[in-house]
Amino acid sequence: MKRIFTMKLLSLLAFLLTLNASAWAGPKKPKKPKHVIFLIGDGMGLAQISGAMSTYKGQNAFERFKVIGFSKTSSADNYVTDSGAGATVFSIGKKAKNGAIGVDSAEKSKDGLFELLKIKGWGTGVVATSSITHATPAAFYAHVISRKSQDEISEFLVRKTCDIAIGGGNQFFLKRKDNRNLYNELTEFGYLTLHDTSWVEPLANKLIYTLAEDGMPKMSEGRGDFLLKATKLASRNLQHHYGNYFLMVEGSQIDWGGHDNDYEYMAAELYDFNEVINAVLDAAIKDGNTLVVVTADHETGGLSLLENKEDKSTFKPNYASKGHSGIMVPVFAFGPGAEEFAGIYENTAIHYKFLKLLGLNGK
Ligand code: MG
Ligand code: ZN
Repeated sequence: MKRIFTMKLLSLLAFLLTLNASAWAGPKKPKKPKHVIFLIGDGMGLAQISGAMSTYKGQNAFERFKVIGFSKTSSADNYVTDSGAGATVFSIGKKAKNGAIGVDSAEKSKDGLFELLKIKGWGTGVVATSSITHATPAAFYAHVISRKSQDEISEFLVRKTCDIAIGGGNQFFLKRKDNRNLYNELTEFGYLTLHDTSWVEPLANKLIYTLAEDGMPKMSEGRGDFLLKATKLASRNLQHHYGNYFLMVEGSQIDWGGHDNDYEYMAAELYDFNEVINAVLDAAIKDGNTLVVVTADHETGGLSLLENKEDKSTFKPNYASKGHSGIMVPVFAFGPGAEEFAGIYENTAIHYKFLKLLGLNGK
């Protein structure tokens, strides 16, 4: 009798210990990112990365990632996407027709990541080496049927879903067909607007900063470390004023080098983008709360690296097209939630991975 009682007591004790142990460990909650830096190399496929990084003298940022995936890039009406549909899908999570900005395949406007994030008080920003009204950055704050309507795209900034925008594009604010001075209007909406060509680093919670009439100069024309400085200025401001933030950084001209079938142009732009990724990774490692995702909207030029018969230690870049191609593009992720980005998926999935990790309710 006494022995049975002791056994019961022991098993009860063991049970209680298990309960206690599981209470201690708790259900393991995945860490949620407080900052997201989403880097888009426009037109940056595997051939671009392979080629440029094989000749780059500095650190290869892409090799610092452990989580790698592939994104299928088709749009709603074309196996080969353009950059409008290619970035719209990241923002609204729906495939759009080529040329569309922030609208679905029925050309209906749909709230994007920035709109959803502003409801939660997050800071949002775009940085690009194109005009800030160009297809890729535009898809994060504007909703228009055609990417060509850049005068109309810039007007979406008064909706204040994009806190900070840095890049080129003076003309779409100051030399508009309707003669409006959009910078004066944006100032009334609380933005600090700048269109200097000399670099300044203002502290502002709302900032539109354009440094060229349209796209920024090429690297070969002396753009220098603009993209790096702009990325740092945007993240510093977003962190300071909002705490949590989502920043999209675009290496816009990797694509333009591809369209020109100019390998050296493309490679110089990719070197620049690589250095921005390195700096973002260094800061993310220190911070511990930053999710870094690097991908492309599509490949440009159908670039391949062929045997160079004159020098077999190197390759001959060969372009199949002046346009985009439909090959999958790589996705690199680091930081809290990075493992979500492993695997092969449609480009739409990238949007839903962000929604899940940031606790957003999209439709
Ligand atoms: Mg672009
Ligand atoms: Zn392109």
